[in-house]
Order: sequence, then structure tokens, then C-alpha cells
Amino acid sequence: PFSKLSNVGTTIFSQMTQLANENEAINLSQGFPDFMPDSELLDLVNQFIQKGFNQYAPMGGMIGLKEEIARKIENSHQAIYHPDSEITITAGGTQAIFTTIATFVKKDDEVIIFEPAYDCYEPTVELFGGIVKRFEMKAPDYEIDWNAVKNLVSEKTKMIILNNPNNPSGKILKENDIQELIKLVQDTSILILSDEVYENIVYDGKEHLSICKYPELKERSLLVASFGKLFHVTGWKIGYCAAPKALTDEFRKIHQFNVFSVNTPIQLALAEYMKNDEHYLGLSQFFQEKRDFLRRGLANTSFELLDCEGTYFQALKYDKISDKNDFDFATELTVNHKVASVPFSSFYKNKLNENVIRLCFAKKQETLERAIENLARI
Ligand code: GLN
Repeated sequence: PFSKLSNVGTTIFSQMTQLANENEAINLSQGFPDFMPDSELLDLVNQFIQKGFNQYAPMGGMIGLKEEIARKIENSHQAIYHPDSEITITAGGTQAIFTTIATFVKKDDEVIIFEPAYDCYEPTVELFGGIVKRFEMKAPDYEIDWNAVKNLVSEKTKMIILNNPNNPSGKILKENDIQELIKLVQDTSILILSDEVYENIVYDGKEHLSICKYPELKERSLLVASFGKLFHVTGWKIGYCAAPKALTDEFRKIHQFNVFSVNTPIQLALAEYMKNDEHYLGLSQFFQEKRDFLRRGLANTSFELLDCEGTYFQALKYDKISDKNDFDFATELTVNHKVASVPFSSFYKNKLNENVIRLCFAKKQETLERAIENLARI
């Protein structure tokens, strides 16, 4: 009777990681690197701790870091955010998403999401009394039918949540998608929450089309990003939200009572480290080598490799191997073949099963080699 989210259990990421550990399986389920971040960044954190920067940061974040973020966004997307009034440092992407939804979604407001969807959107919307309207993108292309999305829009639509590049499908939005989105929201007051935590991980020379490149979208958008993905430090739980001042003012009203502020020495270290653009400009190339290594390794197996345009996740269709549903298959793969993955159905409210699993390839060469060896034996 006291549960506000009675249908929600433990996240699939915690579940699969636990199953991997219990079975001593190679953990390609939860998305995190198994290699060390740059030691220069680690040294910087240590230096700032030793120098005595161990007390509260300002509520919205350290100005030096916000300036570096504004510079990065301007260089990458030619969009201007005022560092002090339009960028807020958050405790990871998830807190930025939670706070955005908490700030704007009221009872009976409708929120449009695209599935497969990262698992925190829907419960957070529900927690604040909102109603989720969903469009299911499907294997193998995960295309968006914008006419169908248009039918989801009503007077009550408060927000559209985008995730580009998409976790788990690895799909990125194309110019055509963005133009359709612009048409959809024009003359409405719909807000956009754009989860772009994998923005710097896009392959084959393709371009990441950030929401902030388009003035008609930027003015109504909250853009969420993550240093965990950018610098291989998911455990530091630090990210940010960039949004026009009027939206940021509201966001911070909630942020100040949610976390107040975020880890001071890490903010200072990131600010210093970000002065060198080389520290992130090569990220796509770095992960493309891992993606290609994994894809080559699995090319001659019975798994079907779906496209991976961005993120560090590879989707695999396994219907030539088993007719089990994806959850049972992922469990069997972990227990019997010692490779943990995430079943795609967990990214759909209606548990859509298309016999697809997700592998995280943000792993050392040696980890990927061992995983390929096990998967190739199936
Ligand atoms: N974002 C990561 C993933 O998709 C993990 C997030 C989490 O464990 N909550 O796997």
C-alpha cells in the first residue's frame, strides 16, 4: 500500500551484473568501462583534494567547469549557453534526467518516450503523476515513424524525451528525424529532454545532431550529458544539464533540494582536464576500434549483428541460435556460456521480445577476446 512504484523492481543493470558476478561470467551487461581512466585526470583529482578543495561547491557548479562545458558545446555544435545561468553540474546524467522530470511534469501531464528506452524515464514520469505515451522503435532498424508519433501528441503533452545516440539500440537521429521533430513541436509549448550522454561516441564519421544545433529546439530543450561516458568514470556520477535560463532557473529550484551541489575536487579536476580538447575528440575512434573488433569476432557466428552507429553497445539478434525469450536467453548465456548481456525486452514497457540482446564493448581488448571466444563456441 505504501509503494509509489509498485510495478518497479531492481534495475536490469544491477540484476545482470549480480548474475554475472555469481556465475563468474564476463560482464558485458551493465554499461561501464573495465579499464582505467587517464592517470592525468586521476592525479588532478588527487591534487585538488590535497590542496583542500573538499567543501561544498556552489549550487549550480564550479564556474571553471561550466565555462569549459560551454566552450565544448560551442566548438562541437556552434550553440551558445551562458556558463553561469544556463549550465548546471549534476550527480550524473540520471540525476539531471530525474530533476528535469521533477521540475516540469505535473499530474496528468503526458510525456512521449521512444522505446527501447533507458529504464529511468518511465518510473520517474510516473512518480510525478505523469502519463507516458510511447512509440516502439523495432529491430532491425529502430526507425521512428513520425506520423505515429504525431498521433501521440495531445493538448496534455508536456515533454518529449529523446535519447540520441540511443541506448540500447545504438541508433542516432538523422537530419530528417530532427526536421520532423521541429515540425511536431512548433506552435506548441512542448519541452524536450534530450539525453545525449553518448554524444561523443558516434561511428563511421557520422555526425551527432545535438538538439542544441537547432535554435527552434534549443529554446525548449534541456540537454543532458555525462562525464562518466566521456572520460571512463561512470562511478564518479557527474554530468550536467544545459538549458536556456528560464528553464535552468526552474531546474535549479529542484536541484538545490535534491543534491544541492556536486563533488568539488572532481569538478575542479574536470575543468582543468577539459582545457585540452584532445582528451575527448578521439573518443569515437577509440570506441570504434573496440566495436569493430567485437563485430569482426562475431561475424562468423550465428548471431546477427544489428547496426551500431553510436554508444558503446552492440545489439545482437540470436533467433538462429535459440527460440527462448531474450531474458531467458541472456540468463542462459550468463550461466552456461559465461557472458552477461542485457535483454532488449527490459527496455520496453510491454516487454517486446524480438530476440535481441545488448553487449557493452567498453572493455579491455583481453575482455573482448574472452567474450568472443565464448560466444563463438555457441
Ligand atoms: N547506463 C548504463 C547502461 O545502460 C548503466 C546504468 C546503470 O547501471 N544504472 O548499462
